[in-house]
Amino acid sequence: MTGILAVQGAFLEHGKCLEKLGADYRYIRKRDDFSENIDRLIFPGGESTTQRKLIKELGLFDILKEKISAGMPVLGTCAGLILLAEKISNDNPFLSTLPVTVCRNAYGRQLGSFSATGNIGNISDYPMRFIRAPYIEKILSDSVEILNITDEKITAVRYKNQLGISFHPELTDDLRIHQLFLSL
Ligand code: GLN
Repeated sequence: MTGILAVQGAFLEHGKCLEKLGADYRYIRKRDDFSENIDRLIFPGGESTTQRKLIKELGLFDILKEKISAGMPVLGTCAGLILLAEKISNDNPFLSTLPVTVCRNAYGRQLGSFSATGNIGNISDYPMRFIRAPYIEKILSDSVEILNITDEKITAVRYKNQLGISFHPELTDDLRIHQLFLSL
């Protein structure tokens, strides 16, 4: 059962992807939504500043940090990657579970949104949709596997059970990143 963080952002789209794959999920908006059988997490894209505020206000920070630190698989997309990063070069870090440094809104204004195609680890020709995306500036552990580099910037990594992705797999019809996540 995947828990999709549903305080703000593109959580419905992630839900639709999991439905297409026949995978169970529920939306997480409060501590009580964390039933025993939640065994993986998705953090959607959106606005990380708002998401941080709501996660704190709703009392979700400690349980999320605890579960991910204990090895619960997590997929963080765009703002979700920002929440996971150990360091943020132009902001304070939040959960700090993923040993990378990210830069927020890293592509500048005129390049705020764009599409590209690339390989994500073993997944070939994946359609990548970037929307005011962060990129990964620095890897902070030898155990971080780089899954994609686009225009000399790292956009997808895996560290143990954490997948951090700059772009939006939930906004394409290609379900292979969700399949990879479900295999963790
Ligand atoms: N720019 C957003 C942020 O900093 C992330 C954008 C997105 O998730 N599409 O939170």
